[in-house]
Amino acid sequence: MIKCIGLLWALIFFVTMTIYGEAYANEGGIHEVLLDDRHSFYINGKGKNSIINTNEKPKLKIKNQPLANIIVEKDSPIFNREGTLIGEIKKGNEYILHSIENDRAVIQLDKKLVYADLENFKHTNLVNPKKNISFHEMEYILRVFSQLYPEFTELKKIGASVEERPLYALKIGKGNHEIIMDGSMHAREHMTTNVLLEMMDEYLRAYVEGQDFDGYDVRHILNQVSIWFVPMMNPDGVTLVQTGENTLPENILMNNGLLNFNRWKANIRGVDLNRNFDGGWMITKTSKYPSYKDYKGKRAFSEPETKALKDFVSKHQFKSYISYHSSGSVIFYYHHQKGEQLKRDLSLAKKLSDVTGYRVMEPTGDTGSGASADWFIMTYKMPGITIEIAPHVKESVVPIKYWDRVWNENKIVGLLAAKDVLTRYR
Ligand SMILES: [Zn+2]
Repeated sequence: MIKCIGLLWALIFFVTMTIYGEAYANEGGIHEVLLDDRHSFYINGKGKNSIINTNEKPKLKIKNQPLANIIVEKDSPIFNREGTLIGEIKKGNEYILHSIENDRAVIQLDKKLVYADLENFKHTNLVNPKKNISFHEMEYILRVFSQLYPEFTELKKIGASVEERPLYALKIGKGNHEIIMDGSMHAREHMTTNVLLEMMDEYLRAYVEGQDFDGYDVRHILNQVSIWFVPMMNPDGVTLVQTGENTLPENILMNNGLLNFNRWKANIRGVDLNRNFDGGWMITKTSKYPSYKDYKGKRAFSEPETKALKDFVSKHQFKSYISYHSSGSVIFYYHHQKGEQLKRDLSLAKKLSDVTGYRVMEPTGDTGSGASADWFIMTYKMPGITIEIAPHVKESVVPIKYWDRVWNENKIVGLLAAKDVLTRYR
């Protein structure tokens, strides 16, 4: 009987997948039906045997990342779920990575799932950047990368958001010099997370294969200059924009009564994180009240997200900082530098402009700023660059149709910024 119900659910699952073909993340009080470790979907009603109301779209959710291929790097023991050794798989074979469980890869072998150590594998392609990437998918991707390549990556939780989602930083490379790049400080600008994750995907693959990437010798560069990626600075805001999940009445109020959160930039309590850093915060322009954008907060670093980055940066000697935003295809580099410092920073901005095609913005007279890059320039006297990806879009998410263009413009930015450090510290 139980088996029959399971089969019935499986049938319904595939039918609904076929009909609707996309994932719905917003559960909204609907009953969840688990199919297996990875798949579940949602139906109306209270009990497991509730009948689906065919007039409504069932909610379908695919947990974790879509399946990815991994290749065995060296002969690897395999285990059953209890951890008992059950055999060995040979170098060069390719398998599907289903998930990770207790720090082990779950892979499919002869129609059953077995367990193996991820560090015995390399990946082919993990990130699908042509879609919105949720906080949980990002978290999964970072964990897989750090477990595939423990010898040249390091995953750190640098803090947590207001809603206690971890803020992650992943280091790639073995270099003593370090640079840092971040994305999704502004919620609706979450395509910047895709940019950084795709960079990691490509740089890691080139690194492990010992290959060039777009003419750059990846190992040579990253063995001297490591890159710290912080791909999602504002996970609560991103989740609000992508799913409308956990919408609070005050969020609707801060959004001027609108239920569509596509234009939301701030963190979940209405503080604009890129107005909350101290780059002359006292005189930073601000909204009067918490809002979907432009409210700078009660004091500099009042938010756990900005404070986390501040503390993390203070423990390193970053030689450059690149902060990804959207939109407008422009590059900001200036915050009152003078002399050699100005020359150096403008030179990096111009190199970035050459590869992206984005325009370097002229200095403005503004002295106050809550922007992270301006704070970095002032505090550490190192280049702090803001890159605004994609053609200008109004108050909204960058449409995914721009992805190929954005990727072509930005794919080399991390390696270029790392290489720039080498020219400065010979
Ligand atoms: Zn922004």
